[in-house]
Amino acid sequence: MVSQSIEDYLKTIYKLGRRGERVTTSAIAERLEVSPASVTNMVKRLADMNLVTHEPYRGVALTEAGKKIALETIRHHRLLELYLAEALGIPWDKVHAEAEKLEHVLSDDLEMAIADALGDPLTDPHGAPIPTIEGELPEPHQTPLAEVEAGQTVIIRQVSDEDAAKLRYLATLGLFPNTAIEVLDVAPFDGPLTLRVGDAEHVVGRELARNVFVTHEPQEE
Ligand SMILES: [Zn+2]
Repeated sequence: MVSQSIEDYLKTIYKLGRRGERVTTSAIAERLEVSPASVTNMVKRLADMNLVTHEPYRGVALTEAGKKIALETIRHHRLLELYLAEALGIPWDKVHAEAEKLEHVLSDDLEMAIADALGDPLTDPHGAPIPTIEGELPEPHQTPLAEVEAGQTVIIRQVSDEDAAKLRYLATLGLFPNTAIEVLDVAPFDGPLTLRVGDAEHVVGRELARNVFVTHEPQEE
């Protein structure tokens, strides 16, 4: 049985390192909003438990055992978010904070029941893929909306789930996963994007557009 904070560290290291690179302690400190000294202490503990490997000046990587716990925690989180949204009608900007707590206490039986009730879903309410029970997590190739050129039609696949205020704002613009949008104009010098969403036109800042991930071609659902 590992503690909540161990699960949070492993999840964070997984997310920061999913492109295969080793993760620096300063990146972990920034993401978890804790001091570099506490990260150093925790990384040492995780290494003693054989959940990570740590090479000074080169960073941290998960072992197979660490990766397994990280993916299980992410599966819990994303299943819970979808369950809270679909079964209880909790708005999409509120489910993340609840799932952050519940992910650590979900039993295997309840996890199975939730997955069954939802029909083994592939994505959470924000479009993030849900790891399978075997611990497979596909990382679909997606582009930040901020990098799309004017004149292109794209489909929103995923939005960042961590900032509730951003999610509420995206909802007012109709920017949900699986929505097709046309990029009408991109202002130079990191300026805003003008989007067509259904019949409406919206101007969104580049900062917000960096939190929205799209694909160019329709994908199989
Ligand atoms: Zn979340």
